[in-house]
Amino acid sequence: MGSPTTSATEFSEDVKSKVFIVSAIGSAQRCAICNGYLDPMKSVSYDHVKEKKMGGVGDVGNCNLTHPYCNTGYKNAGGV
Ligand SMILES: [Zn+2]
Repeated sequence: MGSPTTSATEFSEDVKSKVFIVSAIGSAQRCAICNGYLDPMKSVSYDHVKEKKMGGVGDVGNCNLTHPYCNTGYKNAGGV
């Protein structure tokens, strides 16, 4: 009860909407990982800038729009 959204690790629908709107202002959406254009009508992945296991939260400031395959590949690539 009354827990702040910043304590959640998952992105709420509200956070997703805010990030999407902010990203959409002034330019087409681009993938935060490969910088390619995103097609929001097809597939967009919401990526944690700071991973959940690293203490990242489900907040607007910690959300990047990416291609689903970039998000997955980025995580799997690891090693950095
Ligand atoms: Zn991409």
